[in-house]
Amino acid sequence: MFTPAPRADFPILGRTGRGGYPLVYLDSGATSQQPFAVIDAVREAVEDHNGAVKRGSHLLAEEATIAFESAREDVARFVGAAADEIVWTSGSTQSLNLIAYVLSNVSLGRGESVPPVPGVDMDRFRLGPGDVVVTTRAEHHANLIPWQELCLRTGATLRWLDLDREGRIDLSTLDVIDEHTKVVAFTHVSNVSGAISPVSEIVSAAHAVGALAVLDACQSVPHMPVDFHALDVDFAAFSGHKMLAPTGIGALYGKRDLLRALPPYQFGGSMIELVTMEKTTYADPPARFEAGTMPVAQAIGMGAAARYLQAIGMDTIAAYEANLTKILVNGVAEIPGVHVLGPAHEANRTGTVAFSVDGVHPHDVGQYLDSKGIAVRVGHHCAQPIHRHFGVFASTRASLGPYNTEDEVRFFIDTLREVRPYFGVED
Ligand code: PLP
Repeated sequence: MFTPAPRADFPILGRTGRGGYPLVYLDSGATSQQPFAVIDAVREAVEDHNGAVKRGSHLLAEEATIAFESAREDVARFVGAAADEIVWTSGSTQSLNLIAYVLSNVSLGRGESVPPVPGVDMDRFRLGPGDVVVTTRAEHHANLIPWQELCLRTGATLRWLDLDREGRIDLSTLDVIDEHTKVVAFTHVSNVSGAISPVSEIVSAAHAVGALAVLDACQSVPHMPVDFHALDVDFAAFSGHKMLAPTGIGALYGKRDLLRALPPYQFGGSMIELVTMEKTTYADPPARFEAGTMPVAQAIGMGAAARYLQAIGMDTIAAYEANLTKILVNGVAEIPGVHVLGPAHEANRTGTVAFSVDGVHPHDVGQYLDSKGIAVRVGHHCAQPIHRHFGVFASTRASLGPYNTEDEVRFFIDTLREVRPYFGVED
């Protein structure tokens, strides 16, 4: 059966689920599965080239450093960035906390700890009372709470773009972005509704008032071609484990000059230039933001994942997943008593489909599906405000990867159709 990412590449897809049913993995929005290309790259890094990166003159240290830095180049190429614009992090959560924390350091007067960069006005990064951070009601908590905290630390105010009935960002609320706005942080694709955000409209509105545009690209990068230079965002976050790479690794993209103008937020080894007992000068980015020992093998795995996806072609993956999404979202929407939280059709969305089932708790839905070998996510998916927008506290979510088949999606829909009758819920 054709899938753009061949199923034989993913050893885990050969195992069975609960009750001996074939595993139907529909939880790639939470974490994706890893192909041999990634597993082998990580194993080879550990088996043959394990050494401390950038810290030794011996052969293993040199080989590890070369592999680590070439992974950065692979990941950068994959998202339309230059290698020195990619900072390794543990994932999107750390990437978003990093940028928010660095802005609070500038606001506290620590911007002077790095040399000025010609053409970059440090006032862009400085927040205080009267300034505004704008986010959206669709955010994962990782792109909401760091901004709440930044506002609490600096006295700035948090505002947000609202959502329409489908859960899409409502552009008629774009006027919350005004001359007081310093940051506009928003998701590229919602991890609940699957809706693709109108990036260019939001970035234009942010830049028109001199605000920084921060994109949470964690749910877009694995599913469609993404080019941060073309999108003109100032910063972006994405995670390895959602794009077929290991856990514990991710990246923050930042425009080169902006990263160079920002002070560090964690301090220690590998991020310095000169240290005396009195003071320290800091390395250029990306090292400036990579204090301590990085997850080297995982970074090498993320480089391998980027190469693997690029070899398939993100256009190919997007087109394939668009067809599966159509079957998935229409199939779910047609079941009596089941409600899609998000666009109930395939246009301008990804294959992340959350839904509620009348009369059945999401955990029971998840358990019933699991009893047939189907893995989905249940709960609030770390996005309580958008659930409240849809009038529920939790949901069940099926999310696609490039290894899912049409048969799997159809089996999922047929099984979901059994849920309400199984629990004795009448129409
Ligand atoms: N942003 C979105 C939209 C997500 O879906 C997730 C994870 O589910 C995150 C941020 C956080 O990513 P991570 O847990 O990899 O840091």
